[in-house]
Amino acid sequence: MKTINNQIITDIKSLLKASTKITIISHYAPDGDAVGSSTALYQIFKKEKFDVSMVVPSDISKNLEKIPFSNEIVSFSKKPNKVKELLQNADIIFCTDFNAFSRVGDVSEILSSSPAKKIMLDHHPQPEDCADFVISDPGVSSASEIVYEFILLMGYEQLIDKDVATSIYTGLMTDTINFTVNSEKQRTFEIASKLLSYKIDKKGIYNNIFNNYSIDRMRFSGYVLYEKMKFIENKNTAYIIISKEELDKFNFKSGDHDGFVNMPLSIKDIETSILVIEHEKYLKISLRSKTNYDVNALSRKYFNGGGHKNASGGRLYINLEEVESYIIDAINNFE
Ligand code: 5GP
Ligand code: MN
Repeated sequence: MKTINNQIITDIKSLLKASTKITIISHYAPDGDAVGSSTALYQIFKKEKFDVSMVVPSDISKNLEKIPFSNEIVSFSKKPNKVKELLQNADIIFCTDFNAFSRVGDVSEILSSSPAKKIMLDHHPQPEDCADFVISDPGVSSASEIVYEFILLMGYEQLIDKDVATSIYTGLMTDTINFTVNSEKQRTFEIASKLLSYKIDKKGIYNNIFNNYSIDRMRFSGYVLYEKMKFIENKNTAYIIISKEELDKFNFKSGDHDGFVNMPLSIKDIETSILVIEHEKYLKISLRSKTNYDVNALSRKYFNGGGHKNASGGRLYINLEEVESYIIDAINNFE
């Protein structure tokens, strides 16, 4: 595995010289950082006249649709053959905002078997050694921050314009939850400050992402907090379990539960929060903490997943009726 240094940049520059087709891929259930980092890179390579495209395994939620060029991202769930072709025929594949091929779900086989050279730009801890070049720093706010540094090191800074800056700022803003978490370093704010110099619409970007939900979603959050939130009090933990039936009742759309898992953390003594959403074939788990409690380790141990220390996710393949006691046991046994 390699981290960023002058040699890696020199190697990537010569690789780019010998290439024409670039495909950028990000993770399952793409978030603001996935779309922000992908579209930022996309715009730069487009300006550099590469034949560049973007793919994701599953659809992008509505509140991310205003991110520049996000409408050009091809989703495997809508166009599987197109995604396959773009990955198989690429000279270079950039993997942004994920640290293991398993994070692209059904596309992982196609990705790993593609003959393209793979370059990973990411910020999740414990990256797998699956790409030819791994540029990863778990100490930064977001993959978009890594992409920004990459753009500078590659000598592309003069290509940054308002749209590129908007994409990068979106990734910084969403992964830090508007600069609350993952933003302890001065560098993140230096970059945010620099991005403002491109005259981005800071307030508009915030409103498009965080103030863009439906009435159904708002009522759903009220129901969830009133009826569904439970506690493991001796472990300062809250958990919410939502069935498919409830999702249907509230006319649930993808992205509607974004933020639900964070809500219990605003309670004084709650340090850890867990959200379970019933899907067709598995239970999707989201985990958050606001202290030193390591939900990445918790997810790796009990929820077949991973992520960051304060934000992780995973999946369980058990019945919905079994999940409550599973969570209580996991929390009580985790050291
Ligand atoms: P979310 O709860 O928003 O789905 O995910 C929170 C964080 O955990 C994200 O940074 C995401 O990359 C990571 N994550 C979510 N689901 C999984 C998973 O199934 N496996 C791994 N390794 N990481 C996940
Ligand atoms: Mn990210």
